[in-house]
Amino acid sequence: MKNIAILGSTGSIGKSALDVVSKFPDRFRIVGLAAGRNITLLIKQIEQFRPETVAVSDENTYKTLKSQIPDLKFQNMEILFGTEGISRVAAMPDADIVISSIVGSAGLLPTIAAIKAGKVIALANKETLVMAGDLVMSSVKEYGATLLPVDSEHSAIFQCIKGYEKYSIKKIILTASGGPFAGKTIEELEKVSPESALKHPNWSMGRKITIDSATLMNKGLEVIEAHYLFGLPPEKIDVLIHPQSIVHSIVEFIDGSYIAQLSKPDMKGPIAYALSYPERLYDVVEPIDWESLSGLTFQKPDHRTFPCLSLAYSALKTGGTMPAVLNASNEIAVAAFLDGIIGFNRIPVIIKKVMDSHKLQPADDIGVILEADRWAREDTLKEINK
Ligand code: MG
Repeated sequence: MKNIAILGSTGSIGKSALDVVSKFPDRFRIVGLAAGRNITLLIKQIEQFRPETVAVSDENTYKTLKSQIPDLKFQNMEILFGTEGISRVAAMPDADIVISSIVGSAGLLPTIAAIKAGKVIALANKETLVMAGDLVMSSVKEYGATLLPVDSEHSAIFQCIKGYEKYSIKKIILTASGGPFAGKTIEELEKVSPESALKHPNWSMGRKITIDSATLMNKGLEVIEAHYLFGLPPEKIDVLIHPQSIVHSIVEFIDGSYIAQLSKPDMKGPIAYALSYPERLYDVVEPIDWESLSGLTFQKPDHRTFPCLSLAYSALKTGGTMPAVLNASNEIAVAAFLDGIIGFNRIPVIIKKVMDSHKLQPADDIGVILEADRWAREDTLKEINK
């Protein structure tokens, strides 16, 4: 039996993780849940999974939750709030595995808390590695923690390289669906609405990551994530557009062989693999109906129409605080697009301006990284309001 704590239990990954847990009750038990403000769903999860400890993002939500929880049934349950409370769930002694799936930079500090507690971390929050990759990876070593990727592409690579020495990997190729706007021209993208950008063809995901998928920033952040997870330089990480989302990523070996991982696009696959690793569970994802596949196609990404991908490569090559700035600026720009304040094509333009005016610093201190994050948010708002 593995005890599991989920950070971000009411989000898209959190819900899929609880689906997996409820399908295998003899293998997994929920000991901790942390969520934002979706109390209605959190209470349902508490009643179903009976965690020992629960945390919510802020004090008001905490008070509402306390008032709505039927006291007698949950008198032994500990309820906490804030980054500190969520970090306590991340480090709780009873948890064998911590699923880090809080969206965006808010996931950074709780993930670091889990690392410092030496946990096995099923990492879905890519921002942790984008913002503080060097620091996080050295802490993972120092505290004896383990990172298991949950992002589907990184899970695919992780499955494909198992048993191989690093020297034998020539390149990894992250696949991207291309999102709802693949094949469109810059002119066509000028007037697209948030609603059309939120209609992802293959994956069901949260709002922020769905927009990131449409701009290709998601793939850019994943390139940075892959760099840290697998210790490969940017020139050994490629991206291919693969609209069917069946091949989740590919490893090219030095002898000219390729190994890819294939499955239907369903996040329960990579989540279950991280939870059961190194074993596999029965019937997690529906089998592929090979005869009904119309084909598997691959194209080079269109960097001119979707500049976010190049911005991410450039942030990775620049290093220091630049990836944190890219990430923070993107979060603010995406929120402004979702609110109808800026158009789709302005997202990369604004991020580039913020990156260009950033005073680069080495990212070897969490305070410096958080300050770069704060600065980038402020500067992005200024750019938006110009
Ligand atoms: Mg992904």
